[in-house]
Amino acid sequence: MYSVRQYLFPRTLEEAHQLLHNHPSNTIIGGSTYLRLGGKTIDTAVDISRLGLKYIMETEDTIVIGAGTTLREVENSPLLNRYFNGILNKSVRHIVGVQLRNLATVGANVFARFGFSDLNTALLTLDVDVELYQGGLMPLRQFLQKGVGGRDILVKLIIQKSERQASFQMLRNSQGDYAILNAAVSRLENDWRIVVGARPGRCEIAGGASAFLGEGSLTPERIDQATQMAVGEMTFGSNIRGSKEYRQGICPVLIKRAVQEVLAWK
Ligand SMILES: Cc1cc2nc3c(=O)[nH]c(=O)nc-3n(C[C@H](O)[C@H](O)[C@H](O)COP(=O)(O)OP(=O)(O)OC[C@H]3O[C@@H](n4cnc5c(N)ncnc54)[C@H](O)[C@@H]3O)c2cc1C
Repeated sequence: MYSVRQYLFPRTLEEAHQLLHNHPSNTIIGGSTYLRLGGKTIDTAVDISRLGLKYIMETEDTIVIGAGTTLREVENSPLLNRYFNGILNKSVRHIVGVQLRNLATVGANVFARFGFSDLNTALLTLDVDVELYQGGLMPLRQFLQKGVGGRDILVKLIIQKSERQASFQMLRNSQGDYAILNAAVSRLENDWRIVVGARPGRCEIAGGASAFLGEGSLTPERIDQATQMAVGEMTFGSNIRGSKEYRQGICPVLIKRAVQEVLAWK
């Protein structure tokens, strides 16, 4: 469990950002679920739960998710369920249990860029920008690849609305454990996106395989070829949940399931 000298609720994002930078150990508090697994000594805990960042709303062209929105709210959102075959709702519903999902926030899951993140794998198949207090708007892909090189506050996610069809797949040793591997696929006409995460490294787009799927007919042979290409583009590793070879073995299966699900919704 972490320890805290003082626990503050800033009234504005500006104040939160200022507090964050007042001391090297000052820390933003989301749902506090992951932080409490560690033993960090925090000078000032900056709790952003009173900044009005808990919302899922739509504009004419976008869906906007505030950083303080919980995973449970994503899971149960009728608005999110209407888009992209409910991929975002589905991506979070296996994370631990309801109690944790009632606390854990979208902002922390995305900002922390966890290798095991299920949400980031699903989000990366969509057209998403992250809005950071200091860093401003940035495509999610760029954010996941490079981070922000410092401390900032994730304020919201902005998702472009479209008719994109999408599917999320994963394999877990047991309900509530981290995924051994996850994969998500989306399609908007000939624009396919294949994403693989929990490798156990951070999720990435298999660019070559995605382009290949968009270039020709979608025969079973070409889909198999694309899944093998995607495996070739990814690096895999071993950890307590699965070996590199096992991940390589299940990767084409998850991608193929996702492609087939997307095609079935055509
Ligand atoms: C036991 C366990 C199992 C989990 N399994 C999975 C899983 O299988 N799949 C999955 O996707 N996730 C999993 N998670 C992660 C979970 O989904 C949350 O992402 C995580 O717990 C952090 O959520 P939180 O809001 O409680 O963040 P906190 O614990 O409050 O914060 C985590 C980190 O994020 C920073 N932070 C929080 N909010 C912001 C913000 N808006 N801007 C900038 N920095 C911020 C904090 O400073 C801290 O460094 C698991 C977590 C736990 C504890």
